[in-house]
Amino acid sequence: MNLEPTIGLEIHLELKTETKMFCDCLNDSNEMHPNVNICEICSGQPGTLPSLNKNAIIFALKLAQALKTKVNEKSFFARKNYFYPDLPKGYQISQYESPLAEKGEMEYWLGSEKKKAAIRRIHLEEDTARLIHTNDASLADFNRAGLPLLEIVTEPDFHSAKEARAFAEELILLIRYLKISTANLEKGEIRLEVNISLGPAGKLGVKVEIKNLNSLRAVEEAIEAEIKRQKDLIEQGDQVKQETRGWNENAKQTFSQRTKEEAEDYRYFPEPDLPPLLINQELLDQTIMPELPSQRRTRFQKEFRLNFNQANFLTRDERLGSFFEEAVSELAELGSNQTESLYNFLANDLAGLLNANQKNFEDTGLTPHHFAHLIYKFEKKEYSSKIVKDILSQVVISAKPLEELLQKKIKINDEEIVSDLIKKIIAENPKVVQDYKSGKGSALQFIIGLAMEKTQGQVDPEICRQAIESQLK
Ligand code: ADP
Ligand code: MG
Ligand code: ZN
Repeated sequence: MNLEPTIGLEIHLELKTETKMFCDCLNDSNEMHPNVNICEICSGQPGTLPSLNKNAIIFALKLAQALKTKVNEKSFFARKNYFYPDLPKGYQISQYESPLAEKGEMEYWLGSEKKKAAIRRIHLEEDTARLIHTNDASLADFNRAGLPLLEIVTEPDFHSAKEARAFAEELILLIRYLKISTANLEKGEIRLEVNISLGPAGKLGVKVEIKNLNSLRAVEEAIEAEIKRQKDLIEQGDQVKQETRGWNENAKQTFSQRTKEEAEDYRYFPEPDLPPLLINQELLDQTIMPELPSQRRTRFQKEFRLNFNQANFLTRDERLGSFFEEAVSELAELGSNQTESLYNFLANDLAGLLNANQKNFEDTGLTPHHFAHLIYKFEKKEYSSKIVKDILSQVVISAKPLEELLQKKIKINDEEIVSDLIKKIIAENPKVVQDYKSGKGSALQFIIGLAMEKTQGQVDPEICRQAIESQLK
């Protein structure tokens, strides 16, 4: 039987607002002390009332627009009821029947192949407390309770683990460009759940949901393992049960957590303490959209004559792309319109060094201004590519500021560079050349002197002498 996998994603995203969703407590994921960012509202005391954080709405609207969804002019909050120690109110405020936004889409890339997936809905809700299980106790930290969460649900539009992963990567990138969350998977700032079913092409089978995937690799591996598990079951003549499964990273297998029969009935009902959420044009106008990754990819290809892979590389880290762009304009100010060596030293040499030394771009303290100066020296043939690479490795490995390295007298001892320099001097000074050829001893020193002068004394005189002798043989 020819079985096709179908995959849909449910994504929870913590929004990086300053305060929580329904109270003024700080939204600080770096707070290490438990239960300090709490109040009567987010700890679920009786008699308190929630009031909506406007910034959470604005953040959500940014994503809603970037995902080309239709924003509902009127949406509602609902109570999702369940009993658990991470939820003192006994319900979670969420959106159910009329979500913030519906029916959107997002383009993403699988290698250099453009794909598209439909977004079913985006809704707002609040996060729960964090439970920490020790050997003899379960502890509850309410710092996380009431943080603004955005749930994004896709249509079942993916047919391989790689597609689902590529979509998730693009979504995370988009979220970071929008600056609405740092979307760190390991920290749980973004949580991915995948739904998988197997069926004959064009027909959906029974879906299984996998939770607790805290890396993109886990997403890909869990989907692959689950496809295989379902395939084996069906081929043995068994049926796939609708259930929720977890992911065992070590065994590289999914395992059953709860089956459909045990699934909770949340008994949703309208939240009486919050009025309907009305989205008017004024609020939409306050959502100033930055350039999105897809736009930047296209613009970089056109503006800097880069190919798709190059533009994609620079887009994958917003700061790296901006750095490149600023360095290009600094370089232009110095008088060079070339972007090729700038790209190569940044994307190949520097990125390679950072990778090999497990450092981040930010650790280097590089500024576009000084980086452009470095590249300019290369373009003017003052520095060989060996020197540039050497300087970059000092920046990365010994954390030396580039600004200082640029001021330091560098011994120019690269034979190719010196040879070019001497060639130039010879072409410009026919008289000295004649003197040299007619055996005038001081001519050699004179040419070396000119080379010294042109390089502020950085050139190696011995290599100059060799170059002159070989060129004027
Ligand atoms: P539920 O009501 O169980 O939450 P939904 O219909 O709301 O199910 O869908 C939840 C997620 O599962 C969505 O991302 C959707 O795309 C995905 N999904 C729905 N049906 C299937 C299926 N047969 N196979 C894979 N994914 C599916
Ligand atoms: Mg669901
Ligand atoms: Zn609070």
